[in-house]
Amino acid sequence: MLVEIGFVLVLLVAGAYFIFSTFLQPKKFNAIDPEKKKEEFRNYEDSARQERVQNFYREQHKNMGLEYAKMMRKRHLKFDKCVKTVWEMAEYLEQVTDDSDPDTDLSQLMHAVQTAEACRKAYPDKDWMHVAAFIHDLGKILLVDDPKLGLSGDPQWAVVGDNYPVGCRFDEANVFHEYFKLNEDWDHPKYSTKFGVYEPHCGLDSVTMSWGHDEYIYQIAKDQSNLPEEALYMLRYHSFYPWHKEGAYMHLCNEHDMEMLKWVQCFNQFDLYSKSDDCPTVEEVAPYYKKIIEKYFPNPVRW
Ligand code: FE
Ligand code: FE
Repeated sequence: MLVEIGFVLVLLVAGAYFIFSTFLQPKKFNAIDPEKKKEEFRNYEDSARQERVQNFYREQHKNMGLEYAKMMRKRHLKFDKCVKTVWEMAEYLEQVTDDSDPDTDLSQLMHAVQTAEACRKAYPDKDWMHVAAFIHDLGKILLVDDPKLGLSGDPQWAVVGDNYPVGCRFDEANVFHEYFKLNEDWDHPKYSTKFGVYEPHCGLDSVTMSWGHDEYIYQIAKDQSNLPEEALYMLRYHSFYPWHKEGAYMHLCNEHDMEMLKWVQCFNQFDLYSKSDDCPTVEEVAPYYKKIIEKYFPNPVRW
């Protein structure tokens, strides 16, 4: 009798574990390229693109400090460049590639489609997430040089790459940390301290981040879309790898940031592991994305 009760108990525990691990955990996503293991992404030591990536981070870390980030915010957050729909602007991503990315040479329009399609498969009901995924790198249009769009081709290091707070010490969790020694803020009496110009747990909203495509698209979506808060966090902090991947800079976060962190991490798996050379065509997916973009961006956007 005791043996039977024990057996039933084991079955119950195993059943409960199966239900928990299958349905209640955040969804884990496998790299679309079946040949590529997760550890092989974000290789900053000896990838095929090492030289390009290393040069990129030398420039970014040398030039991107508090003053530069503030200047770029002033320049780009006026939204007086042009008026176009999100879809029209996304088509310009076809001509954009990202020098900081060790994992792909595909155009950023393909990357948008891959990321969004991966999200859609895992979360078919969350159309706001599909839109966020589709537009997450749309800020990279700042790389385009086209006077008709009011764009003058910013350098790669001022648009892409991982993000980090400026105005306080550069955390060692940043990739290529050694290049920060070239930055004028490196030995600044205030900016080189742990908290710098910030208060403990002031919240990321009060922190000036290194300028890039994340902040630009976030500011546009915040004022010109009806995307939910979770989507806005995904847009704003998706390149903040030292935070969402390495757990650094927690001393600047408030409770709300910590609450939102899991959404940023959830999004990251689609951004990162969907990169492969095999991708649905834009024509195949265009009708669906045009429709949901219109739902969340009902009007043409001021860029
Ligand atoms: Fe990005
Ligand atoms: Fe991306």
